[in-house]
Amino acid sequence: MSEPHSDVVATPDAAETGRIEAAVGALLPALERFNRFEGADPAAPERPTWAPHLDRPLPQEGRGLDAVVADLADVVVPHGLRNGAPGFSGWVTTAPTTAGLVAAVAATSAGSQRYWLQAFNLLEEVALRWVADLLGLGDHRGVFTGGGSSANLVALGAARQRAYERLGVDPSADGLPAMPRPLLYASEEVHHVVMRAAGVLGFGRRAVVPIATDRAGRIDVAALAARLGADRADAEVVPVAVVASAGTVNTGAVDPLGALADVAAQHDVWLHVDGAYGGFGCLDPEVALLFEGWERADSVAVDPHKWMAAPLGCGVTLVRDRSLLARAFTLEPATYVEGSLRPGEAASTWDDLGPVPYHHLGVDQSAPSRGVTVWAILGEIGAAGMRDRVIRHHGFARRLANRARSDPRLELVVEPVLSICCFRYRGTGTRADLDDLNAAIVARLHRTTPYVPSTTVVAGALAIRPCYINPRTRIEDVDGLADAVCAIGDELATAS
Ligand SMILES: *Cc1c(COP(=O)(O)O)cnc(C)c1O
Repeated sequence: MSEPHSDVVATPDAAETGRIEAAVGALLPALERFNRFEGADPAAPERPTWAPHLDRPLPQEGRGLDAVVADLADVVVPHGLRNGAPGFSGWVTTAPTTAGLVAAVAATSAGSQRYWLQAFNLLEEVALRWVADLLGLGDHRGVFTGGGSSANLVALGAARQRAYERLGVDPSADGLPAMPRPLLYASEEVHHVVMRAAGVLGFGRRAVVPIATDRAGRIDVAALAARLGADRADAEVVPVAVVASAGTVNTGAVDPLGALADVAAQHDVWLHVDGAYGGFGCLDPEVALLFEGWERADSVAVDPHKWMAAPLGCGVTLVRDRSLLARAFTLEPATYVEGSLRPGEAASTWDDLGPVPYHHLGVDQSAPSRGVTVWAILGEIGAAGMRDRVIRHHGFARRLANRARSDPRLELVVEPVLSICCFRYRGTGTRADLDDLNAAIVARLHRTTPYVPSTTVVAGALAIRPCYINPRTRIEDVDGLADAVCAIGDELATAS
């Protein structure tokens, strides 16, 4: 009688584990071509011809590495997302620059976990320190996350831990008591991921108290202070955190961070700053004043995968007291890892010599090494290169604002603060349906020009909203957008 599986064990694995140079090499020309964004149609075609080629049933037999690489090069990459094209200014997103891309490839292969004492683990910490230093938050430390959503979630998890530990409750171990009820405070302009975080953390979305904003979209500090004063006197609620926005995604408004730090200190409430988009704005000396005081925040979220153009999936939570993260997110020791070590045997201890156990500081256990991408980007361009980018992009928004002020066919909807400029076409006629007209202009821009801004609504008015974070965008793209808006607007306004 033969041993079961004896033949199977001798069969080599079907997956190629070598030939990296040949496989990556075969892909490189397609990536180079894609990265030029030539003839880019940034808006996806309505009936893609490539989809049926890719959307096939599960293959029972593999086609081999070369066939897969050929499909990647010929079909997938050419139909990728063109949000790195120079004229793309929608959302708050772009494609990575080369250093981050190369570092991500390296990490995928050689840094496939951020655990243990190895170069990628060390670069995780080096990059966190560099980001903190770059932002003037030198006393803060933290953890990389999958993006701004989880960076805000993790920061608010630390806030939850502190608020409840003060009441003698460990919310991580025991959950939230029915009373007192947790509350978060944020402006009406806060990013919607904060409400989701409130839901996930057990506060509930409705625990986010919306505080009014002024006409520039900044939180009304007096209204916040009044509400906090009342809630501090109410035994049935526990104020957990004030969530400030350092760069709202609609207009780029920066809440008064110094004043918020004062109010938070006065009422003894955690201050969290969501700087996922705009945190890097502090690098511009002209607007640095707006960020004064944010070093007093208990936590800050930033997204290197936005303005820093790191490969996607790279957010950062920075906190003053990292031990709170460990108490909020720690894992019980795993028997198959540190739980079966003999006394005295080296574990993944958190001390000056040992590696930082990032898997105890956030919501992921296994996670890619992200610090290496930030390290590579800052190693390439330095703080100076990042500062120049931010200043240039702020300049783009101001240039567009000047154009909107001086061209009688355009109007500036709100003064830019960072790199977003909200403006619109108003023509010279008497058309009342300016919202419809501007929506039609943007739809036409997306279909027929390289310029792809978003739209937003500011004080009830539909605005065209370019957000400049893309390192590839040139000044011609800024002027080209304004010219195209005028040309399309003129045409549509006279056609009706
Ligand atoms: C982008 C953004 C988020 C969400 O971050 P993701 O990286 O998209 O998850 C949250 N807040 C602000 C201000 C943002 O710009």
